[in-house]
Amino acid sequence: MTNNHDDAATAEGARRRFATHAVHTGQAVDEVYGAVVPPVHFSTTYAPDGIGNLRNGYDYGRAGNPTRTALQQQLAALEGGAHGFSFGSGLAAEDAVIRAAMRPGQRLVMGNDAYGGTYRLFARIHGEWGIANTPLDLADHDRVAAELEHDDATVLWVETPSNPLMNVTDIAALARIAHERGALLVVDNTFATPYLQQPLALGADVVVHSTTKYIGGHSDVVGGAVVLNDDDLAEKVAFQQFAVGAVSGPLDAYLTTRGLKTLAVRMDRHCANAQAIAEHFEGHAAIERVLYPGLASHPDHQLAARQMRGFGGMVSLQLAGGEPAARKVAEATRYFILAESLGGVESLMNYPHEMTHASVRGTELAVPENLLRLSVGIEDVADLIEDLEQALGGL
Ligand SMILES: *Cc1c(COP(=O)(O)O)cnc(C)c1O
Repeated sequence: MTNNHDDAATAEGARRRFATHAVHTGQAVDEVYGAVVPPVHFSTTYAPDGIGNLRNGYDYGRAGNPTRTALQQQLAALEGGAHGFSFGSGLAAEDAVIRAAMRPGQRLVMGNDAYGGTYRLFARIHGEWGIANTPLDLADHDRVAAELEHDDATVLWVETPSNPLMNVTDIAALARIAHERGALLVVDNTFATPYLQQPLALGADVVVHSTTKYIGGHSDVVGGAVVLNDDDLAEKVAFQQFAVGAVSGPLDAYLTTRGLKTLAVRMDRHCANAQAIAEHFEGHAAIERVLYPGLASHPDHQLAARQMRGFGGMVSLQLAGGEPAARKVAEATRYFILAESLGGVESLMNYPHEMTHASVRGTELAVPENLLRLSVGIEDVADLIEDLEQALGGL
């Protein structure tokens, strides 16, 4: 028996199941001191054994760092991919994918309900550098196929479930549509996490994450990830990471690894709490509509049940009292903290129209004014329900 469990590529590693990967992959017991938690390597530079003789391949911190390598192995194993890359933010990870996979003159086809910051990156940064984008309804497969018929449309970008409308997109169907037309399918798996949804196994070419959210899981570290199988594209992403340098620092990589170890148990609780809240408030007098794929009333419920292991921790509420009611409730909860972001252990409340999605106001990606987005935490769900009830009671 060995406890040097760091290599997912071994026969033993390949058999390992999700929660075991989460705890052990990339986390070999330290050979010098036997430390069960590998040390965090802060050094920016590495002494070779003489000129040109690197020890284990490390020379400089932008190019590589053992703490980052451990996280990248863990990310790749959990998404079931051959290559994992960790970045300083989710948007930095997305930018690296676009620059690795696309060239000026090409066009990106994307969902019209993508995260506002993603749209801003594509429209205002990549757009300026000659990469156009076409947002559309991803449920309209004929329209997606027709757009991808054009030679310049080389990448299809999917976010599912979407933020904050909780639409679910059929990854396997869109992978077929994209591949028949020579396009690449990228899936932003931030909301679902690899525990609930495995896009590569469903046919996607690339998975991206904001690890700031569920993967980090404690609202204390910003980061991003890219996982993929294709060796050539992986080399291009690696070159972006090295040559541009939007890497995660050692402490960020360590915190993300620590968060990832508990992803499976956290997600089970996030899912259970979100389901209970969605069921409790569906039909409530102050609520016009609850958007949660775990509800039988959700238009994509069957698809979500097929494609995901659980329905996730994000719930959106549309208030019967419109914008004034949404604003009032957003400021009246005790445990649901009014804040941007999502995926932490604590419950958060967001008013997307003016917070996370302010950058898409007035565009076709705009979010309804009566919508509140809940990131349901892992607290006792009875307290969370009471909290929302008292806030709605104040209307
Ligand atoms: C937050 C988020 C991003 C951006 O990630 P950052 O870590 O904030 O750069 C991308 N996609 C989704 C779905 C997100 O929620």
